[in-house]
Amino acid sequence: MIRPFKGTFRLTQGFGENPASYAKFGMKGHNGLDYGTPTNTQIIAPHSGKVIEASFDANGYGNYLKIENAVEGSVLAHLASFQVKVGDTVSEGQPIGLSDNTGNSTGPHLHWGYYLFPRNRQNGYVGFIDQLNLISMPAETPPPLEGLAIEVGYNPTFEGQDVTVNGVHYKAIKVDGKLVWKTEPQEDWKKKYEDEVAVHKATKLALEASLTKIANAKTALN
Ligand SMILES: [Zn+2]
Repeated sequence: MIRPFKGTFRLTQGFGENPASYAKFGMKGHNGLDYGTPTNTQIIAPHSGKVIEASFDANGYGNYLKIENAVEGSVLAHLASFQVKVGDTVSEGQPIGLSDNTGNSTGPHLHWGYYLFPRNRQNGYVGFIDQLNLISMPAETPPPLEGLAIEVGYNPTFEGQDVTVNGVHYKAIKVDGKLVWKTEPQEDWKKKYEDEVAVHKATKLALEASLTKIANAKTALN
C-alpha cells in the first residue's frame, strides 16, 4: 500500500485526533488521515481493488471514491472529480481522481479512510483503522510551496491561533472565507528548491556547451 498521491504533502490530521469534533458523528476521533493536498492534486489508488462507490455526500465526504479488494478498502474523500467509475478495477498507483475541498471540509485536503477485513464497525471509528504504519513509503519531508490549507477538526474557532506540527510553526488565517494554516519555513524550502533548480540548469548548460564544442570539433575534422 502506498500514499494516495505522488510527492509530499503534510499529514494535517492523524487518526483518532480531535475527539471533541467527532463525538457528534458518534466516533472516538478522526477516522482517517488528512493530507494538505491543494485543489486538483492527482490522487492515485493506494492499493489495488474494485471501485465500489463513486458518489457525492454533501454533509460529509463530498465527492468520494471507495476502493476495495479481498483484504482491505479505502475511502478517498473531498475530491473535485473522478477518473474512474463504479465497477472499474484499479491497480496500485493508478490515477483515480483530483483532490479538492468538497463536502464537510474547511480547506482543500484529502481524507483517506482505510479498513481491513474483517471490518469491525463497532471499533469507535466505523471500522476504519490507523493505516499510517502500513504505508510502504518513506516519511514525508518538505511541505508544498504554497500555504497549507487544512481541515482544522471542522472548527473555525482556530482562526488566528498558532500551532506547531512536526516542528513547523503555523498560523491559522482566513483565505477566501476558508481557514488555512500558513507557515514561514515554506519560503525557506522554496528558496532551497529554486537554488537546486538553478544548479541543475547551470549543469545542463555546461553539458550542452561541451556537446556543441565536440560537435564543432568533429565538423572541423571532417
Ligand atoms: Zn479527514
